[in-house]
Amino acid sequence: MKTIRLQADHPADIIRAGEILRQGGLVGIPTETVYGLAADALNGEAVAKIFKAKGRPMDNPLIVHISEISQWKKLVREIPESARKLAETYWPGPLTIILPKSDCIPDEVSAGLETVAVRFPAHPAARAVIEAAGTPLAAPSGNLSGKPSPTTAHTMLEDMDGRIEAVLDGGPCQVGVESTVVTLATQPPRLLRPGGITLEQLRQVLGEVEMDEAVLNPLKAGEHPASPGMKYKHYAPKANVIIVDGPYESYCAYVNGQKVPGVAAMCYNGEEARLEVPAVCYGGEEDYDEQAREVFDALRKLDELGAKTVYARCPEPKGVGLAVYNRLIRAAGFEVLHVD
Ligand code: AMP
Ligand code: MG
Repeated sequence: MKTIRLQADHPADIIRAGEILRQGGLVGIPTETVYGLAADALNGEAVAKIFKAKGRPMDNPLIVHISEISQWKKLVREIPESARKLAETYWPGPLTIILPKSDCIPDEVSAGLETVAVRFPAHPAARAVIEAAGTPLAAPSGNLSGKPSPTTAHTMLEDMDGRIEAVLDGGPCQVGVESTVVTLATQPPRLLRPGGITLEQLRQVLGEVEMDEAVLNPLKAGEHPASPGMKYKHYAPKANVIIVDGPYESYCAYVNGQKVPGVAAMCYNGEEARLEVPAVCYGGEEDYDEQAREVFDALRKLDELGAKTVYARCPEPKGVGLAVYNRLIRAAGFEVLHVD
């Protein structure tokens, strides 16, 4: 299949993307979080193609993207007051809300669960494509399953060229990590995946919010996660990533002690000066937003460098940094080294 390149600032290309989606095709679309691989959420056959293109396990449900609140009402059984308040405060934006689903949701979208995850994205091109398609869009991140999520059309094409009908280029993503996922189908509400909307921001609106164990910890054998996506190895480059937790001095000493070909570092901006191995930076030490924007690109760049083993500076799990930590610890398969 030839993957057509479309431009988000060309109105004719938005219309074309909408047509492809209405006809049951797949289009890569920009959102403020990461690039998504979109299909008509109400067409089970179209949605099934997403799983095939990504190599995504069929039991991992998808997020449905809307461009107006009225679409949400049709997708869920009811919208409780708490959900309405969350949506009023943070939509459009990088927040996904899970509620019991209505009958129009195909099984492919919810992967057999009784709930559906919905998001109203802020990116103007994402909203324009949903409007042009005239239907809500199911869209997971546009990477091959297990790989780092794409934050540019170029990186999305690295994984999807030839596998999907089109990619709409809307420039680099502003948030850089996938949306925050919160379920209101349980009491109290529960954070299933951290993202651009922080746990503190959720608590400001909802009061008590629990953080799912799987946000920071590996699953125990046989355990069923609330969010099926959490059981899979994720976001991983080809290189073996190891997180090094400890002060900068000790990090440098440790990494420089491991200096052999194939070893690389993933560090904060400016820290590469004292490292004797190739290094890729992923943002300023205290700039969690920048780290979120950079983390997936940094992982892909390490592959381009041919790194075999990567020692990554441990992100601070605070604010948006919690999302960076959650992604990087999965990329590392939960391997964390402590140095004093
Ligand atoms: P992605 O589409 O790559 O951003 O991944 C979507 C994430 O949301 C995955 O971790 C899914 O397991 C999770 N998810 C989607 N729908 C649901 C749902 N109904 N219940 C729980 N988790 C969900
Ligand atoms: Mg994903």
